[in-house]
Amino acid sequence: MTHEVQDVTIIGAGPAGLFALFYAGMRGASAQIVDALNEPGGQLTALYPEKNIFDVAGFPKVLAKDLVRNLITQAEQFSGPIHCNQRVVALEQEEGHLALVTETDRFPTRTVVIAAGIGAFAPRRLPQACAEPWYGRAIFDRVSTPADFAGKRVVIVGGGDSAFDWAHQLQGVAASVALVHRSDRFRAHAATVQAVQASAAAGGTAIYTFHELHDIHASGDQLVGLELKDIKAKTTTRIDADVVLPMLGFVSDIGPLMSWGLTVVNDEIVVNSQMETGRAGVYAAGDVTTYPGKLKLIATGFAEASVAVNQAYHWLYPEKKVSPGHSSNLAVFGQKDD
Ligand SMILES: Cc1cc2nc3c(=O)[nH]c(=O)nc-3n(C[C@H](O)[C@H](O)[C@H](O)COP(=O)(O)OP(=O)(O)OC[C@H]3O[C@@H](n4cnc5c(N)ncnc54)[C@H](O)[C@@H]3O)c2cc1C
Repeated sequence: MTHEVQDVTIIGAGPAGLFALFYAGMRGASAQIVDALNEPGGQLTALYPEKNIFDVAGFPKVLAKDLVRNLITQAEQFSGPIHCNQRVVALEQEEGHLALVTETDRFPTRTVVIAAGIGAFAPRRLPQACAEPWYGRAIFDRVSTPADFAGKRVVIVGGGDSAFDWAHQLQGVAASVALVHRSDRFRAHAATVQAVQASAAAGGTAIYTFHELHDIHASGDQLVGLELKDIKAKTTTRIDADVVLPMLGFVSDIGPLMSWGLTVVNDEIVVNSQMETGRAGVYAAGDVTTYPGKLKLIATGFAEASVAVNQAYHWLYPEKKVSPGHSSNLAVFGQKDD
């Protein structure tokens, strides 16, 4: 699918990218975000949604997932879409503009703001070779709707927030829920762990600590069970299963950005104080950038996003000032002066 040409296309829906989307809207530029993940928020959503952040200006403390929600709400004042599940693999030059290319779509754009953080996130896959043929059929690492698993015997692999959240949410929806983890230490919100453990004590969720996937049992083309290995006792156990949900965290890959003719040092894009990358119309912001004195923080990412977007807008429309003026005076927010 080829999308309509936009003034600004932002790679990455982390905090820097989300704030860039808001800023582009505030300047009156058409804009969109393209992100590899199935939901916005970058590292905050993928790695630490339940952790408090204490150094974002104006918030004495804020849960990472709440900060993301606020950033989305702020950006939604304007109509720039966020395209998820779209990993950008190429930046191409078209007649009069650029185009970002993903595995399925093409996003023509006049300027680009790369806010790709530490790279495109993808769910970590089960390391056992026996699992690979079942991805997309009975093994799913991107899940969103509990009802999809109604009446199924579900096995969740992992010991973090996502594993416990889904074990909790699927209780009473799935026919059975088992949670398999290689250790007895969990990296999940204490209240959710307690809820799942209480369900296990009452005969609900089955929890297998110090276990991992060993083999898969099938009947025809249906997955019907798993062989689990006790990594301490070196014994195996068979359990019934229709569906496996690996919740093993994420791996990130900066790969595609390396070949776009930008100056990249240690997987970071070198930018100047205007957030220019050296390629006309291509700017960068957030963790993906480097310059003397760089701090990889949400606060600096916000500032860099506003610089990048204002520069991109001025480059595109030279008659428009770089400085946006004060938002407290802008007509776009219903204020009198513009
Ligand atoms: C556990 C933890 C705790 C932290 N605590 C704090 C804290 O207290 N305070 C603080 O200031 N910072 C903290 N940080 C750091 C902070 O999260 C980062 O500085 C911030 O997320 C960077 O934002 P970003 O938007 O630049 O990139 P990211 O959040 O990394 O987002 C980048 C996005 O770009 C997408 N992307 C990348 N490449 C592509 C591609 N090719 N195609 C499509 N999409 C792509 C990714 O999928 C991702 O969604 C913490 C980090 C961690 C891991």
